[in-house]
Amino acid sequence: MAVSTQKKIRIGDLLVQKGVISQEQLMSALQAQKASGSKIGDTLIDLGLITALDFLKLLAAQLGITYVDLANYTCRSAVVRLLPEAYARRYKAIVIEESEKDLLVGMADPTDLYAYDELSKMLKKPIRVAVVREVDMMKAVDKIYRKTEEIGSLAEELGEELSPVQTIAELPSDVALKDAPVVKLLRTVFEDAVSAGASDIHIEPDEQVLRIRQRVDGVLQEHVMQERRIAGALVSRLKLMSGLDISEKRLPQDGRFNIRVKDRNIDVRLSTMPLAHGESVVMRLLDQSGGSLNLEQIGMPAEMLRRFRAQIHNPHGMVLVTGPTGSGKTTTLYAALSELNRAERKIITAEDPVEYRLPRINQVQVQANIGLTFARVLRAALRQDPDVVMVGEMRDQETSEIGLKAAMTGHMVLSTLHTNDAVSTALRLIDMGAQGYVVASAVKAIIAQRLVRGLCRRCQKQDPLDDNQRAWLQTVLGDQLRRYRFRKGEGCPHCKQTGYTGRMAVYELLEIDADLADALRRSDSAAFSAAARRQPGYEPLALAALRFAGMGLTTVDEVMRIAGVVDENLTAYIAKRLAPQPAEPEKTRGPRREAAGRQEGEAQEEILDLTLEDVAEEGPKVDLDAFDEFLLD
Ligand SMILES: [Zn+2]
Repeated sequence: MAVSTQKKIRIGDLLVQKGVISQEQLMSALQAQKASGSKIGDTLIDLGLITALDFLKLLAAQLGITYVDLANYTCRSAVVRLLPEAYARRYKAIVIEESEKDLLVGMADPTDLYAYDELSKMLKKPIRVAVVREVDMMKAVDKIYRKTEEIGSLAEELGEELSPVQTIAELPSDVALKDAPVVKLLRTVFEDAVSAGASDIHIEPDEQVLRIRQRVDGVLQEHVMQERRIAGALVSRLKLMSGLDISEKRLPQDGRFNIRVKDRNIDVRLSTMPLAHGESVVMRLLDQSGGSLNLEQIGMPAEMLRRFRAQIHNPHGMVLVTGPTGSGKTTTLYAALSELNRAERKIITAEDPVEYRLPRINQVQVQANIGLTFARVLRAALRQDPDVVMVGEMRDQETSEIGLKAAMTGHMVLSTLHTNDAVSTALRLIDMGAQGYVVASAVKAIIAQRLVRGLCRRCQKQDPLDDNQRAWLQTVLGDQLRRYRFRKGEGCPHCKQTGYTGRMAVYELLEIDADLADALRRSDSAAFSAAARRQPGYEPLALAALRFAGMGLTTVDEVMRIAGVVDENLTAYIAKRLAPQPAEPEKTRGPRREAAGRQEGEAQEEILDLTLEDVAEEGPKVDLDAFDEFLLD
């Protein structure tokens, strides 16, 4: 229902009544209000007599309506759009929920009866009013409407300009024609994508409509346009910009170009695909100005980071980063390259694709179709007097042989392999045909990594664990299990009901010491695995992930997902590593508990003492959002 006119609120009197402000304060506020002409509520807030939030809550209580915290509320685009953008801005209102019989509308000023009447007329459905903070409302409106209306009108303009008979060849291809509607439209599409933080833009012609979809936070958002016939012009312009053959429409092509949007340098990787109703284009946006990657940001525990650093600063040798696709390997490699990137060091890379451009580094794009393979780039690179060589991937025997040789002849070689863990990686090189003694002397260190999703900080609670999880943990942890408490997210607006926000990397670092090198020389895999597990600094991925779960940073589900099948040796190993250490002095306990930030009775304390030994000192300080932002792989 509307806010009743009879119930005229004198918010000032109410505040005095409630003892929030004094009569004198009200009088001076009223005087100030007369001078400024603004509303009494705003005046009280300006004078610092009440916070905006308290004021709104009080107002809501007085009016008998609800206060909705939009900052923690996920607005559905389709619902918000029931109200056109201009009205939303003019009346400072936003549609929050739609039910069969009515709409819940958030208003920054629910006492504005004129606005209420206009909104009722406009929305053609009974409305219930809630009070919202104006800043939150404006943010939500900015986010939902973004530039979509502008895109729509530019599309229309372009549609009108293109007479049905005009072919693309007649379209001005001169870049100097900046005002051409197609250029304006594309610019707006890119600006919108950048301000929304989109990672990809999809342009998809359908039979009747043109869809432009953007991937934001991993989820596609759709924008449908009726101007189906502008698709050809858009796609052609994009192909032109990336140097592709615009007359070839039957075969997929890929290319790239660079644009500056909102003072940011965006590297665009584009690919086309012939669909039933025309060519579709997907563009991946790589922000080149999004701050430089560095090793501090990759969430590696401090002690491991110290050792990893020492390894990559070796004048020669090979350091490998391994893991399946999507494990963040590329991020780790780029962070390492950034650290090594100094004027006195020549760095050459062979990449497929070049995902991130680094100043001063000689980056080579592998192009297998013209014979420019990893092996060929690598061979050429070695004639260019490099200090450091990065090979995107050791894909075949030839590449790995040249890489290993380079590592033995005075170069630091960084590369990746598609293996599951650090231990199997060195052995994989031998399987690929390398001699054991070569691997033993070339390879210095191996990082294996995975990404796990981070637990939502707002809705996490104790995880009761299901039978399957309990059985798995029992296998891994044995009777240490009872010392653990795990957490999971229930789902809330903050995490879009998933229970997770952001991702973090879990690492395993294996340094090749004398024992390991010896096992490699003999190509003895059993001895190699045993020697790895004896290494004091080595900890398998599963255990590193379990630590995160024990710290409430991720869930058992995530740990199980990356841990895969657990072998007996690992179980025994973990049980040993997690055994209680009675010698631990009492005084070190306090700060650790505090740093871990959770106290749920005795069981929790035990857990922290036993398994999260050095969380406070060397635990990863992961800014999940920042980390997610520059994940590449
Ligand atoms: Zn949540």
